[in-house]
Amino acid sequence: MISPATAEQSRTVPTRLPALRNSYAQLPERFFAATDPRPVSSPTPIRFNRPLAEELGLDADQLTGPNGVEMFAGNRFPEGMQPVALAYAGHQFGNFVPQLGDGRALLLGEVVDINGIRRDIQLKGSGPTRFSRNGDGRAALGPVLREYVVSEAMAALGIPTTRSLAAVLTGDPVYREVRLPGAVLTRVAASHIRIGTFQYFAARHDIDGLRILANYAIERHFPHLAGQAKPYRALLEAAVAAQADLVARWMLVGFIHGVMNTDNMLISGETIDYGPCAFMDAYDPGAVFSSIDRAGRYAYANQPRVATWNLARLAETLLPLMSTDENEAVAEAEEVLRSFQSSYEAVLQRGFRRKLGLLTEAEGDLQLAADFLDVLARGEADFTLGFRRLGDDLDADDAQGTARQLFQDPGAFDAWSARWRERIASEAADTATRRAAMHAVNPKFIPRNHRIEAMIQAALGGDFQPFEEMLAVVTRPFDEQPGMERYAKPPRPDERVLQTFCGT
Ligand code: AMP
Ligand code: MG
Repeated sequence: MISPATAEQSRTVPTRLPALRNSYAQLPERFFAATDPRPVSSPTPIRFNRPLAEELGLDADQLTGPNGVEMFAGNRFPEGMQPVALAYAGHQFGNFVPQLGDGRALLLGEVVDINGIRRDIQLKGSGPTRFSRNGDGRAALGPVLREYVVSEAMAALGIPTTRSLAAVLTGDPVYREVRLPGAVLTRVAASHIRIGTFQYFAARHDIDGLRILANYAIERHFPHLAGQAKPYRALLEAAVAAQADLVARWMLVGFIHGVMNTDNMLISGETIDYGPCAFMDAYDPGAVFSSIDRAGRYAYANQPRVATWNLARLAETLLPLMSTDENEAVAEAEEVLRSFQSSYEAVLQRGFRRKLGLLTEAEGDLQLAADFLDVLARGEADFTLGFRRLGDDLDADDAQGTARQLFQDPGAFDAWSARWRERIASEAADTATRRAAMHAVNPKFIPRNHRIEAMIQAALGGDFQPFEEMLAVVTRPFDEQPGMERYAKPPRPDERVLQTFCGT
């Protein structure tokens, strides 16, 4: 076995790749630790996301060459570039940890994409940093492939998310319970500012640091707030609105994040850290997959509540910036936090109306949606297929419909369906239009857990074809894709994955 390269060898190596800018590294030194990636033995490419590279304005041809692969493995990066590990804190399952930080990730730098948006480029699994604690700083192949597939599926579903630009094998093993192949993921994010980043400075009573961070977050994500009379209150409002929107969108596709710690929630409102995440198969509000979430803190139906709890932690950090009068600051923060519910409900209700194919608003619509969820829950029917098939069945009569077949005992579905059909009949829309509208919001293909596990197992055996195929299918979630029906199917009882494990 070739031994992994030592820290001494970890130096900038000139390449023809352009150095990335790094505005975060211009912040005071206590915001990060300058760290070089630890080189790996023999980088080999797994996947490169060419459309994303083009969106980022990067030279895709150069990045697919040897220099690119070396950069994505952390072996080589352009002169003048200084990667940094970001400092942050966070509540993990409710317990505050004053220092977490990037223990296995490095921000390489930023690019301004073709839409003028600044995006972070980060390596995950690139070796130890000052924040690694007892960790090895590495990532195993399985979690890297899971994050690649699920994050790209989320993007295709139209849900704000970090993206995956590249995955490479390192050639070095990592040791978890067993020996596994090591890999590095290149992640792209609007930024990596977490609720936990604010908590890091608050825990140190570093008000200057907080203000610098808040100003940076405003400038980067909400520049229109900069001139406001109360910019920090406005920042909280914007973060609350972004999270409310995000979590509602998760709920509409049956996504369970699995580890909504405050260090895993971004101020930008993008989904981040695909560890023990999962899409539910059968509809179950109490669904939990994470092996470490024994109390069900991050169960499907708890997600909006957890998001508000997390945002309250963010609000606490901003109090000293909001007003010198603490009572006034608390009153304002509470008012802002209350806006979560109405923002969340607005997105959720609009979303469920669309999922049911309702083009107008009528009283009773929300009850109709709630009752459908209830019918799905009682029938242990598949959430994704339940909605998709309503659209398929628009011009079938119910008895021959495919949605009905999801239920062992279709009585409750039939009763509900009669009400739904009466409601849509009250709208003047042709079936084709309505079906297209429904199929544009109700995916046929989601990255189902049992498929992910099978894909990872194949990759561990050296076969990446299932990874490629699954990625291709789930990044076109709303298309029919004849021949790919197996990816739409829920697991058989013996295929069901009951637990997913953290990416560590
Ligand atoms: P996560 O559960 O992935 O959100 O990570 C929580 C914290 O543990 C973060 O500070 C990570 O950087 C750190 N961490 C996770 N895995 C590793 C690892 N293999 N080596 C070092 N730090 C890690
Ligand atoms: Mg994390």
